[in-house]
Amino acid sequence: PESSILVTGGCGYIGSHVVRQLSECGYQVVIIDNLSTGSKENLIYDEKLVVGDISDSKLVESVFSQYRFDAVFHFAASIIVPESVKMPLKYYRNNTVNSINIFDACIRYGVNKIVFSSTAAVYGENELLQVTEDSPLNPTNPYARSKLMDEYVLSDMRAALPNLSYVILRYFNVAGSDLLGRIGPRNPNATHLIKVACEAALGIRDKVTIFGTDYPTHDGTCIRDYIHVEDLAKAHLESYRYLRDGGDSIVLNCGYGRGLSVREVLKAVELAHRKPIKVSEGYRRIGDVSSVIANSNRIKKLLNWRPVYEDISSIVESAYHWEKKLIRNSNSERRIFSVNQSLGR
Ligand code: UDP
Repeated sequence: PESSILVTGGCGYIGSHVVRQLSECGYQVVIIDNLSTGSKENLIYDEKLVVGDISDSKLVESVFSQYRFDAVFHFAASIIVPESVKMPLKYYRNNTVNSINIFDACIRYGVNKIVFSSTAAVYGENELLQVTEDSPLNPTNPYARSKLMDEYVLSDMRAALPNLSYVILRYFNVAGSDLLGRIGPRNPNATHLIKVACEAALGIRDKVTIFGTDYPTHDGTCIRDYIHVEDLAKAHLESYRYLRDGGDSIVLNCGYGRGLSVREVLKAVELAHRKPIKVSEGYRRIGDVSSVIANSNRIKKLLNWRPVYEDISSIVESAYHWEKKLIRNSNSERRIFSVNQSLGR
């Protein structure tokens, strides 16, 4: 059979943007997703979807035996920092143990290209203006540690299996959505700043709370490197091309190299909304670090990655319009439901 690409977690927020770009480039895609946070609605072409959990070895086995994969893009994971502090085992199980399930199948079926979703959270607290891929790693929460373990697993696998090659992408703060508004973050219990702030602007929640105003930064709030999901998705396709061209295993930062404070992000949301949003100032959130900004020289040089949507206003605008569309859709579903009810359907 023709070879395809396996995408675990392909119905999720980041995975589905990558799936969409892969399909648009003509690649055959097979997805495993348990639909715990992802949705079928995030698939806009006719990609093959296997609904199931990557902890299920039998299911993983049957997928690998059914198709011939040229590469695996491994997204499926739990990603909420505060939740990981409360439920560490969920994170070590979903992110570390289940990844080993996928990697093991890769080895047994000779799939030797892996693109892996890691996180800037592996850097943890640091005093650096920008972190490079060789900066010290001090993960401060179970989520970050569960991902760093995967990085070690991949690197040890590579040492044992010279044929294997991977690209580990350390994501900074991903936000925004597909420019045509077809897919985006659907999680109803969002915790990420830009989504929460857009929800507050649109009345889905009454306010946004700033977690900590006493950080050692210019305005007292945390600084992050926010990256548009479309630019991030592109980095995955370029990672795959790099591996196909014989590129060696590598770790790459996915950020723009500039930092924005929580207050600056909230300003951008107010600009998109054209009205003030309700903001309150709260305590620090456990597991947060004051600042993380990417040095992205390596990915730019190695993959020739050229970000397009660096401007925070374009990230926030797309996130805001996506959120508006979600509201419109749920209102019309509610209308259809009540019409059906009144018709006795
Ligand atoms: N943040 C905030 N209020 C919120 C959500 C997030 O002040 O409702 C802050 C959070 O403390 C951090 C930054 O925004 O400094 C980004 O947090 P997010 O959860 O979006 O991503 P993380 O950096 O934790 O991956």
